Amino acid sequence: MTNYDTIIVGGGPAGLTAAIYSARARLNTLLIEKTYPGGLMMISEHIENYPGFPSGVSGPELCVAMKDQVEKFGAKIEMAEISSIDLTGTNKLISTTAGDFSAKTVILAMGAKPRRLGVPGEKECQGRGVSYCATCDGPFFKGKKIAVVGGGDTAVEDSCYLTKFADDVTIIHRRDKFRAAKMLQERVLANPRIQVLWDSVVEEIHGNPDVDRLIVRNLMTGSRSELKVDGVFVLIGQEPDTEFIGSQVILDDFGYILTDTEMRTNIPGVFAAGDVRQKTFRQIVTACADGAIAANSAEKYVEAVEAGELVAAVPETGLIQDIIGEIPSPISDSTILDATKE
Ligand SMILES: Cc1cc2nc3c(=O)[nH]c(=O)nc-3n(C[C@H](O)[C@H](O)[C@H](O)COP(=O)(O)OP(=O)(O)OC[C@H]3O[C@@H](n4cnc5c(N)ncnc54)[C@H](O)[C@@H]3O)c2cc1C
Repeated sequence: MTNYDTIIVGGGPAGLTAAIYSARARLNTLLIEKTYPGGLMMISEHIENYPGFPSGVSGPELCVAMKDQVEKFGAKIEMAEISSIDLTGTNKLISTTAGDFSAKTVILAMGAKPRRLGVPGEKECQGRGVSYCATCDGPFFKGKKIAVVGGGDTAVEDSCYLTKFADDVTIIHRRDKFRAAKMLQERVLANPRIQVLWDSVVEEIHGNPDVDRLIVRNLMTGSRSELKVDGVFVLIGQEPDTEFIGSQVILDDFGYILTDTEMRTNIPGVFAAGDVRQKTFRQIVTACADGAIAANSAEKYVEAVEAGELVAAVPETGLIQDIIGEIPSPISDSTILDATKE
């Protein structure tokens, strides 16, 4: 079994940044990625809001640059599936399709996948008018006509945000009322640029190659109609990739990992970074920031253990859920409940 100071699970921007910081801190570092390094950046055609690229940068280009930087500082990247993980002991044990590994610290950076509609045309038009992120892609729809699918906090709040760019926003929601917070509902219903198609679902997305229309079905009447749009934002929730860690680490009700501000979880030596943890703003730059903080915390942990110091567990009350209290999360209860019905 190969032993490391730090094993990072997940090679998106959070994991790659953690690997850069960890390797530069002279920690013997392994990054395990199950598909390809880069995570969701790989499916982001054009990134305009990552600092340092005034003309924007393609997602795949940023993936390669971050991966090269990781390898330059000597971290090892292993492409493997994890079959079991034991985070509870002083030595963390990870079995994968590429062999067994152990480490003093683990940084969990598995991200969260956006939920898809699963309708014809969605996959083909992704990045060509089909989007899963209003903050990321909203500015590309200046003066355009768009649709938003969903009825939770994220869909409703982001519809208002999208009117900063689009002239016309149609929310398509399968129920006859929103699940979003009352205040958000009032704001959206009062916005003259937003209309709502209640009791309706998207059945097809068309475009050649860019989205130009949707086929929408009214669930009450069964009638199908065509909606001409330049883009559609699918905002029906996300799924964090945390099932395989079971109950070892404390998760919130939706499967996101709870951490404190130093990215520590409830288990000493186990940290989490990026979209996989409970937080309010999921972007590349915030994932990178989390990764840097997690690696710094891992470094301090290794130093403390090597100095023979005892490292106490973070008390449950110190984890982020208790700190943020009532602040609404974009991945709120209402969004998820709605998503399961879409
Ligand atoms: C279509 C789209 C466009 C976006 N555009 C932008 C943008 O323009 N600007 C911006 O700032 N943000 C954008 N975002 C958001 C941004 O991509 C995410 O916030 C960011 O990628 C999160 O980084 P992460 O490292 O936490 O997770 P991810 O990028 O999701 O990476 C997680 C990685 O972990 C791997 N993994 C998961 N489980 C395991 C496992 N068990 N074992 C090994 N590996 C595992 C995955 O394969 C993946 O590679 C966009 C998101 C989407 C969906």
